[in-house]
Amino acid sequence: MKRIAALFLALGMVLAAGCAKKDQDGPEQREVYAMDTAMVLTIYGEDALRAANAAEEEIYRLDSLLSRTNEASKVSLLNNAEGKMVPVGVALCDLIQTAATYTELTDGAFDITIAPVVSAWGFTTDHYQVPEQEELEELLTHVGMEHVQLSGKSSASAGYENASLDPGTQIDMGGIAKGYASDRLSVIFQEHQIPQALISLGGNVLAWGSKPNGSAWRVGIQDPNAPSDPNAYVGILQLTDAFAVTSGSYERFFEQDGVTYHHIIDPSTGYPAQNGLVSVTVVADAAQGNGTMCDALSTALFVMGREKALDFWRSGACDFEMILVDEDGLVTVTAGLEDCFQAAEGGGYTYEVVS
Ligand code: ADP
Ligand code: MG
Repeated sequence: MKRIAALFLALGMVLAAGCAKKDQDGPEQREVYAMDTAMVLTIYGEDALRAANAAEEEIYRLDSLLSRTNEASKVSLLNNAEGKMVPVGVALCDLIQTAATYTELTDGAFDITIAPVVSAWGFTTDHYQVPEQEELEELLTHVGMEHVQLSGKSSASAGYENASLDPGTQIDMGGIAKGYASDRLSVIFQEHQIPQALISLGGNVLAWGSKPNGSAWRVGIQDPNAPSDPNAYVGILQLTDAFAVTSGSYERFFEQDGVTYHHIIDPSTGYPAQNGLVSVTVVADAAQGNGTMCDALSTALFVMGREKALDFWRSGACDFEMILVDEDGLVTVTAGLEDCFQAAEGGGYTYEVVS
């Protein structure tokens, strides 16, 4: 009996430490597991407790709206509607429209209709397999934003409320959901007048304000060669009021017959993008919408590869900076980050600043 009581006490302490923590003058800290990833929120300010509660609630709400594995989510209802129109609500319609904008801007490198292909590789269920070429070709005929329709505006200024997909087409918001969530959290921080916060939604960072002592937040760029070592970095970014989103092939992958297959799919081939990049980090100001942009672009630029990604950055189509890591150990940093990027020593990487 005593042992059970002691166990409960220990468990209670771990839970208390894991879920919500606030020292007298310290930040409100939360660890949340949602969207298939571990999230950490550190929030300062007088209203930090309420902001943290609202942020946590919003993350769970978005997870149950956008998840592909939760059968009751709006995305699942749409994916399973077999061509019928579904009242998915304005928020999801808006996000689908935003996704479509990035599909157009990136020439199809970012495409939420890649869903059936992602599933064929087993990334949705973790039952990994290499699909047959024939199967991929058939699935690719259902990929493309022309297979998505929105309708039901109540007035000219209102958003769409309903969506439908051509039979065979499905959507996967995995490449944009965490970025969108980080945008939503920035709205909550504004509402609660939060002066400083550091948010990490599994590779999607929001550095809100500065550190309480006035210095910049330090955000490590994971060393793709040591993905399980949380202290192995290719470099550190010093950020104030910024989003920083990383997509990496090391984040989710499987191996078959000595070949590694990862979870970022090139919609032009149906295969995991294979062009020498191992990670892409996109950085932008903490302006509304930029969290979503950074997430969509990190996925798209990964698909494009180094040269096309640099062309896209130079085109000025979107306002962002980036860090590309390729498999040969070259780290490319765009000029706007030169002053806030600190290379890590001893990782065997070479660094190049481009303009
Ligand atoms: P992560 O989710 O690991 O942070 P990303 O933001 O790059 O990484 O998103 C990858 C996820 O996006 C995949 O797991 C899949 O659900 C989806 N996805 C894969 N390829 C594409 C693509 N070309 N366009 C849009 N979404 C994609
Ligand atoms: Mg992404």
